[in-house]
Amino acid sequence: MLIDAHAHLDLEDYADDRAETIERARQTGVERILNVGVDPPRWNSSLELARRYPGYMYLALGLHPTDILRAGNPDAALERLGNIVTENPGLVVALGETGLDYYHEDVPPDIQKIYFEKQIDLAARLNLPLVIHCRDAMPDLLAILKQKAAGRKIMMHCFTGTPAEAAECIALGEDVFISMAGPVTFAKAFERHEVARTVPLDRMLVETDCPFLTPHPFRGRRNEPARVRLVAEKIAELKGVTYEEVAEQTGRNVRRLFGIV
Ligand SMILES: [Zn+2]
Repeated sequence: MLIDAHAHLDLEDYADDRAETIERARQTGVERILNVGVDPPRWNSSLELARRYPGYMYLALGLHPTDILRAGNPDAALERLGNIVTENPGLVVALGETGLDYYHEDVPPDIQKIYFEKQIDLAARLNLPLVIHCRDAMPDLLAILKQKAAGRKIMMHCFTGTPAEAAECIALGEDVFISMAGPVTFAKAFERHEVARTVPLDRMLVETDCPFLTPHPFRGRRNEPARVRLVAEKIAELKGVTYEEVAEQTGRNVRRLFGIV
């Protein structure tokens, strides 16, 4: 079952053709989509959208590390997030994306760490898996995960670390998954190719992160869930297995991680 484990279909990029985009995903064989709402206004638009696609679209909601200060009072926002999760059982299946992003300098690292840890705690209280975003911050992120989230259910979204860091993540527990996105299809992404080869298929997910990270040969254009197939095909090529095996196993992983049918 091919599943796009990370999409942002609520964004304005799809204002003109959102329904057609989702229909194209279905026709390409994408059988589930996890849409990710990154700040309070996006939580609302994500909820609205997902309610139109019951059993097809599921949600992760959280405060993205670069959006923390856009949330008004982030503590009040997280309290509201707790209520949204309780009011929407089976629809909001994960907390995130949360994590650390030292590439974008909008939010100081210390504040990012505080709200990353608060969201790890909130996810524990709500019994939800974590969707983790990490950019240029892997040592700090791994330290926090080891200290606070060992044994937890975790998706490492659009993994950008080294093969050794992927192994460290996997060692955190049997429910940690490394998610591969469009950049693995780029010819010169040697380190990502190595991650795709070394991470076992039963610990791997595929995603688009659309509208971002468009895979080859559509690089530079808007991304969409139908193109998660290109990511799965590249993984198959790198691992020397069939596309069907990749789709089947990564789909099983998504359903196990997020508890969706
Ligand atoms: Zn994302």
